[in-house]
Amino acid sequence: MAPKLQREDYTVGWVCALHIEFAAAQLLLDTEHAPFPQGPNEPTFPYKLGCIGSHNVVIACLPAGRPGTNSALSVALQMRSMFTSIQYGLMVGIGGGVPKPKNNLRLGDVVFSQPDGAHGGVVQYEFGKDIPGGLRRTGHLSAPPEHLLNALQTLKARHSMTNFGFLDHLSKLTRPGSPFLRPNDASDVLFAASYEHKDSDDAVGCYECAQESLVNRDRWQARTGPVQVHFGTIASDNRLMRDGNQRDRISKELGGVLCFEMEAAGLMNHFPCLVIRGIADYSDSHKSDDWQKYAAATAASCAKEILLLIPPTSHVIEHTSASKAFL
Ligand SMILES: [Zn+2]
Repeated sequence: MAPKLQREDYTVGWVCALHIEFAAAQLLLDTEHAPFPQGPNEPTFPYKLGCIGSHNVVIACLPAGRPGTNSALSVALQMRSMFTSIQYGLMVGIGGGVPKPKNNLRLGDVVFSQPDGAHGGVVQYEFGKDIPGGLRRTGHLSAPPEHLLNALQTLKARHSMTNFGFLDHLSKLTRPGSPFLRPNDASDVLFAASYEHKDSDDAVGCYECAQESLVNRDRWQARTGPVQVHFGTIASDNRLMRDGNQRDRISKELGGVLCFEMEAAGLMNHFPCLVIRGIADYSDSHKSDDWQKYAAATAASCAKEILLLIPPTSHVIEHTSASKAFL
């Protein structure tokens, strides 16, 4: 029987936005724990408790129909008020990719936020001052704490030795009959950035879109497997990106972005975390939901892989400086 745990025993917060992301995360728990009784004045948000390796984890989800940076921050703050020993987080779910010849990013791939010289791993791309001719981005989002970046480096080293731990977790999520199965590769199509989607009255999908506007990716960077993991800048804001030209323009302005999403910018300065996104579309007008479940599964599998590489933290260790700022 599982030992009786206290709220203080939970040290990791895993945040997701969609119910399919919440489901994928729960399926990867080694053991599920019973919830605590709800206190009279406590906030309510969907969550699940359990352990992964030696970590006791709170998996929290945003309320239905409430995506966005503010909602993510609200849930993270509520989670940390109920589970005061949480040291760091993983923001895990789907995102829209920025495919380029040099990254050959495909649907189902996974992106980890990783700082570079100019950014902390996540950029809030619509935050700043309007100036003649455009927007001057201001403000800075914090980089993940060092022990998460150490784990990221270990993961990268393992991947460079073709040791892809996430594939074991992914195989558990994609057993026959699972809703998280990989769609047919033929449905992974990329249109030219400036070619807009043509709606069809009869069917959902790109049936009316011109095949000659598809991008030929035969000569893009070679692939190492069906799911590739990428590391770099994630663009985050409250707006759903579904415009190929804007996608490429903003990416260029920021020195190269791997994906767009809608929650991480709310968290980074308040909740030390890594952002892990499975690519479900290409952030353009052709976006569909076909790859969402599989992308949620690949992201959750990578989140479990890195969590298992992070040494267990005692809930009494000194909080990181970011945590102190929060507290
Ligand atoms: Zn289309």
